[in-house]
Amino acid sequence: MSVSGGKDSTAVYLLALESGRPFRAVFADTGNEHEATLEYVARLHARTGGPKVETVRADFTRQLAQHRAYLLREWPKQGIPDAIVQRAAELHEPIGNPFLDLCISRGRFPSRMAQFCTEELKEIPITTQVVGPMRQAGPVLQWIGVRADESRNRALQPRYHRHESGSTIWRPIFRWNIDAVWAQHRKHRLRPNPLYAQGMSRVGCMPCVNCRKSELRGIAQRFPDHIDRIDAWEAIVTAVSKRQSATFFPAVTDPTHADRPTTYPRIRTLVEWSHTSRGGRQFALFFDQQSGSGCSSELGLCEGGAA
Ligand code: SF4
Repeated sequence: MSVSGGKDSTAVYLLALESGRPFRAVFADTGNEHEATLEYVARLHARTGGPKVETVRADFTRQLAQHRAYLLREWPKQGIPDAIVQRAAELHEPIGNPFLDLCISRGRFPSRMAQFCTEELKEIPITTQVVGPMRQAGPVLQWIGVRADESRNRALQPRYHRHESGSTIWRPIFRWNIDAVWAQHRKHRLRPNPLYAQGMSRVGCMPCVNCRKSELRGIAQRFPDHIDRIDAWEAIVTAVSKRQSATFFPAVTDPTHADRPTTYPRIRTLVEWSHTSRGGRQFALFFDQQSGSGCSSELGLCEGGAA
């Protein structure tokens, strides 16, 4: 079963424990997680008596090398100045943070419209590192913590279905409501991920590319270090992008840079706006269209339900 550190996958972990049957629990560390989630997942077995959660991480060493070779070969032909090409090539060394390495290899951040992070950071590592090898030994049933009342999209998913990895997906808490999820925690005397008590409505990437205005404001108020981290990542991904521009959120053109129509606001500008809501109607339009949920993966690898 997949564990995200959120309430729903934890409820499923506890359900699997109640079954009395052996199972494996897997967490895909994106590199964009809150430290409280990492600690919660790492200690889940000790707090419940269940199996230790195994962590998988995507490795982009090969993609970085391929993209470095591509840009050294092609960018000069496209008139990109040599200093930019050389700096971008230097930055194609794997850092070991899956989220950042992925963004460097793509020269951009993922977005609602190009949500390659879910597949690259979660689905592929879990499938190749865990499900694939297990399938060699026999059939695999994946227990997924998805509930119908999380979103309209999730309500349309079936309780059982065949996954392209050859495994079968089962959503055992599909009909549960949120009260049942918390009751499951209480029944096992398990404290939920502390991020909920700190006001977060969703556990997963911090922030998620789909997050809404209120969630961004909450992260900035409570966990400013994570905003600092994204700010530093924006500088790195900008340096490796052909256009020399990369922002975590592809919000519409920054109104303070109206003379430069392809200039998107960096995260600090959006955080400032998220506190004041003054000026920047365009930012509001962008964030109104954000889903607010985490991954849309059919594997339910990150919970939805942001405010
Ligand atoms: S939680 Fe959001 S940012 Fe993280 S992998 Fe899923 S969609 Fe991407």
